[in-house]
Amino acid sequence: MHERSLAQALLTQITQVAAEYPGLVPRAATVDVGPLAGVEPLLLEFAFAEVATERGLAELELVLRQVPLGMHCDSCQQDSELYSVSFQCPKCGNHRIHITQGDGLILVHVDLVQPGDAV
Ligand SMILES: [Zn+2]
Repeated sequence: MHERSLAQALLTQITQVAAEYPGLVPRAATVDVGPLAGVEPLLLEFAFAEVATERGLAELELVLRQVPLGMHCDSCQQDSELYSVSFQCPKCGNHRIHITQGDGLILVHVDLVQPGDAV
């Protein structure tokens, strides 16, 4: 299952971040999801909760943020956000653009707390 392997990869990243701060445990992780990531947010949340529980992190919360596609136009050199996949620069109409954000999952932030702290 696609979402499950993504959840496993995220949990591994989060665990690595947390490992740099001995004594703290991850409580929440913020992840940006772009329109081209091919992710069903509900399925990802479900898979994440399952994998987190398996790894002894049942308290860990996943905060998914859906972000628009970021793009840069090679013709007018402006940056834009695309809310639908048209692959055309909304500012000058040129098709010579390249996608600069939104084509994957990005772990943005991990909240770490002392074990036993109230939420
Ligand atoms: Zn343009």
